[in-house]
Amino acid sequence: MRENLRILVEMQKIDDVIGEKNKLVEELPKKLNSMIGNQKNATELVDETKEKINECKSTQKLKDLDIQNNHGKMNKYKNQLLDIKTNREYKALNSEITHLENKNSTIDDEILELMETEADLQNQLAAAIKKLQLADDDLRLNEEKLKKEIEDVKIEIKTLRNNRNEMAKKLPIQIVKRYAVLLKNKNRRAVVFNENNVCGGCGYKLRPQIILEIKEGGKLLFCENCGRIITHKNFE
Ligand SMILES: [Zn+2]
Repeated sequence: MRENLRILVEMQKIDDVIGEKNKLVEELPKKLNSMIGNQKNATELVDETKEKINECKSTQKLKDLDIQNNHGKMNKYKNQLLDIKTNREYKALNSEITHLENKNSTIDDEILELMETEADLQNQLAAAIKKLQLADDDLRLNEEKLKKEIEDVKIEIKTLRNNRNEMAKKLPIQIVKRYAVLLKNKNRRAVVFNENNVCGGCGYKLRPQIILEIKEGGKLLFCENCGRIITHKNFE
């Protein structure tokens, strides 16, 4: 039984390492996805800002056209003024011209505002492009590295599992089955130690009889509370 216990302790050590590696297998793809997400967001921000700038420019163009049209109308009216016969017509035409002048002045202000908005957007675009470049660099530099790391960890886990399974072959099948069930159901901790006379797995206070038997190492013992295999830390 001492040899069996020694093997079980070694198997647990390997499974502890596998547990750590499993965490990496979960975390590394998250890291990669977050980098891909950053790059996607940065790209979207650049595109959106470019679109806003284009909208701003086309609105300015439309307003420029309005101004030109109004000028055309004003010139036409000014020419008509020369042929006007009555005072009433003259007044009406003049007021139309004034109205168009006011309109153009308002549009001018609006164009100025749009130009300011466009300048702001250009600054935002420069910042967004910079951010995108950083995200691109980050992804380019780390994507392959992370993918390789993930593959390497998977291979390491496979090797560790093989090693553990080789060890398990030396144990009676009943013990292996028990170990496997405990590993699965007890948070990957099948074999625990007597830690100052409490179970190292659940903290349950051990009975003196069990403490003695653990020390002797002649039996396969289980924690009476959590059911884990329990043995002595300095057990050789
Ligand atoms: Zn326990």
